[in-house]
Order: sequence, then C-alpha cells, then structure tokens
Amino acid sequence: MQKPLVPLLDQAVAALLHAAPGQLAGLVGRHGSPLNVVWPHILRQNVDTLRAVLRAHDVRHEIFYGAKVNKSPALVHAAVRADAGVDVSSVYELRDALGAGADPARVVATGPAKTAVFHAELLACGALISVDSCEELAALEAAVVAPARARVLLRYRPESNRNSRFGMDAAELLQCLHRLAARRASFIFEGFHCHLGGYAWQTRVQAIGELAASVAAARELDLPPRMLDIGGGLPVRYVDGDAYDAFLPAQEPADYRTGRVPTSYYPYGGRTDAASWLHNVLAAPCGDGRTVAQYLNAERLTLALEPGRSLVDQAAVTAFRVTQVKALADGKHVVFVEGSSFSACETWFGSEFLVDPLLLPSDPQRASEGAPFAAYIAGHSCLDDDVITNRILNFDRRPMPGDLLVYANTAGYQMDLLENEFHRHPMPRRIVVHVNARGAMEFSPD
Ligand SMILES: *Cc1c(COP(=O)(O)O)cnc(C)c1O
Repeated sequence: MQKPLVPLLDQAVAALLHAAPGQLAGLVGRHGSPLNVVWPHILRQNVDTLRAVLRAHDVRHEIFYGAKVNKSPALVHAAVRADAGVDVSSVYELRDALGAGADPARVVATGPAKTAVFHAELLACGALISVDSCEELAALEAAVVAPARARVLLRYRPESNRNSRFGMDAAELLQCLHRLAARRASFIFEGFHCHLGGYAWQTRVQAIGELAASVAAARELDLPPRMLDIGGGLPVRYVDGDAYDAFLPAQEPADYRTGRVPTSYYPYGGRTDAASWLHNVLAAPCGDGRTVAQYLNAERLTLALEPGRSLVDQAAVTAFRVTQVKALADGKHVVFVEGSSFSACETWFGSEFLVDPLLLPSDPQRASEGAPFAAYIAGHSCLDDDVITNRILNFDRRPMPGDLLVYANTAGYQMDLLENEFHRHPMPRRIVVHVNARGAMEFSPD
C-alpha cells in the first residue's frame, strides 16, 4: 500500500487546518463548497525570498507577478503591496492590475496574440510590452500615436524550445532591432524577454548565453538594452522529496480508478525550490568564465522574472465538503464531494495532483475511530470524467458526509483555472485570511 503524499504546509495554513478545524467547517458552512481560502501575506513572503537571493548576488532586478496563475484580486493586491510589478496577458488582467494600484510603468504585457484593444490600453498607460513577433511589432507601430512611444521588450525563442510558437529566433530579433532603430520616434527599446516551458534552471542559463549575441547586436545599433526578462517557471515543492521519489516508481495501474498510471506529472516532490533555482541561475557560468550575475552586472542589465506558480506557493487551499460515500462493484468505493474537478483540475490534463487531500472530520470525536479505507474522489456532476482524484487514496478511516477534504497549495493553476457554473452551481467563493497583529485569523471575502 502506498504511503500518503502529505502536503508541505506553511505555518499559517497549518494553523487553520490543524489548530482550528471547526473554523474551516464554519467557513464552508457559510460560503459553500468548494471554498478557496487565500493567504495574501504568503505571496509577500515568496517575493521577499526571491528578493533576498537577487540581493545576495547584487544584481539589479525586477519581479513581475505572473497574474494568470490565479484569479484572486487579493493576490494581485498583495503583489502590488510587496512592491512587485505585474505580468499581464490580457486586457482584463491589465485592468485588474491597474485597479489594484500597480504602477503602469511596472506592468509587463506578455502573450502572443494581444488584441488591438489590449495594445491601445497598454500604450495609453505606458506599460512595457513584450513583442512576440515581427508581425506584432508592425501592428504596434501602427497603433502608436505620437508623441507617445511604445516601451518594448523583444521575445526570444530559446534553442531548447525551438518548436514553440512563442517568440522569435536570433535572425528575427535582429530584423526587429533594425526596425526599432529606424523608428525611434515610435519605440523605446528596453531589452529581451523569454519564457520557457519546463522547470530546469539550466535551460534559462543557456537562453541567457544565447541572448548575449543579441544584446551585443542591439548595442551596435545604439539600442542599449536595460533588461533581460527570463519569464517564470520557478519550481514549487508540494511534498517531501524522499516520499515522492519512493512513491513514483511504486505506482501500479491498480492504484488508479482508470487502471492506468498517468505518464506525466508536475514535479511535486522536486528537490529544488524557487530560491535555490534562482541562485543556481545566477551562480552558473555563462560562456566566458563569468557567472550569469557577473555578466548581468558587467552589461548593466536588470534581471526580470515573471513568477506565477512560485509566488503563490502555499497561498491557498481548496476545501470540499463530502456529500456521499458509495460502495461500487469489486469492493471499491468512491467519495463524492460538493464541487467538481474544475476546481482541482489536474485530471483534465490527463495527469494527477500528487498531493493527498487532508480529511478533516465534521465530528472531531470520530477522528480517532474507524478502520483504514480506500477510495477515489469524484465531483458532483453527471460527467463520468468529473473525477478530482483518480488515484485510490488510502484514508485512516472512512470519510463521512459533512467531513472536509482539503487540498493544500492549490493557488497555482489548480483551484480556479477551469472553474465554471456547470449544472448552474454558483462559482466557488474565495475567502481571504488576514493574520492580525495578535496572531489571530480574520476572514473576509476576496
Ligand atoms: C505563464 C507565464 C509565466 C508564469 O509562469 P509560472 O510557471 O507560473 O511561473 C510567466 N511568463 C509568461 C510569459 C508566461 O506565459
């Protein structure tokens, strides 16, 4: 039998789940299930952690919160209050960031297919625009109204992502640089951008090395770059690394409702956290014997990051109330919860959230009773695929109607990426936890 994958918990989160479980049940009672509970101060902690690494390497830096990771306005506010910039990829994310008080000069717009309306609002507020293609540069040039100028980064497509549809190769970058040099009245060139899939710090170092030639080419054209923005993709650790490494190879088809072990997962038990990832990038040699940090400083470049997932690490949990526990054929069981897999959506990507939910009993007396119990977790819709956890989970005891199943660390692309009003169920609510000066928890709607 597999050991449970116990979630790593920030102390503020643990305080709500363990010290005061009745409090969470009360919140679900008032606001409905599933309930997303958000801790904005944890985002600030995560910003501070990354800043400490950047300061230790003494590099100029800018952190943009990758706002697409979660729909919570409170998290955008927290990023702004932590003095981070915001990375927006839609006109709505832009409006939310400005509404949260973001300095438009510290907003960067990414994404490959910006609309005319998005361009117009970015130009109107003076935000930084990452240009994805020569075609986009032409569209932007047509949209600029003198005397305003567009502040631009050029998005590079690193060699390790050669088949991606995002960004440009070195030849296209050069073509854009020539256009920028010829249109100084329309543009302010600020530097280069890239964002890579995957979580390896080595690919970022390689991309910075590749960009050095374009940095030099820009200087030749009297377009000195100010910034290298290496995007997001900083890793998050969800569970203990040893437990995870033992878990993965021991999986069997029978551990899944589907009879199939998924072929890919997020690296939930990775050994590298965001801070060490960033340290590794900065300390790595970059071609000519210098480290990345030394290269950036010699070139007077600001290193920009656009972390999404790693800034919301630990910043939310999702609590589902159990509605029914049902016996199926072959002695198997399913736990139905009030809510759907759209609010814990990994199964929709053919994968699985390899973090076990915590079972909080509605009657604490019962917590110590009962025999071990195995079941998968389904949502309350009529879709056969509305399954939150295909994995057969091993509980200490049988879950009961009214108990809570709490998925930890759901803020990163988990809790609300696919949420909707299927079956006319209202959208799940978000509740913000503020820990006051006396250490007490205060709750308010997000
Ligand atoms: C999604 C995205 C990010 C954030 O990525 P994370 O993996 O959440 O850190 C940053 N920049 C760009 C351009 C993105 O598309």
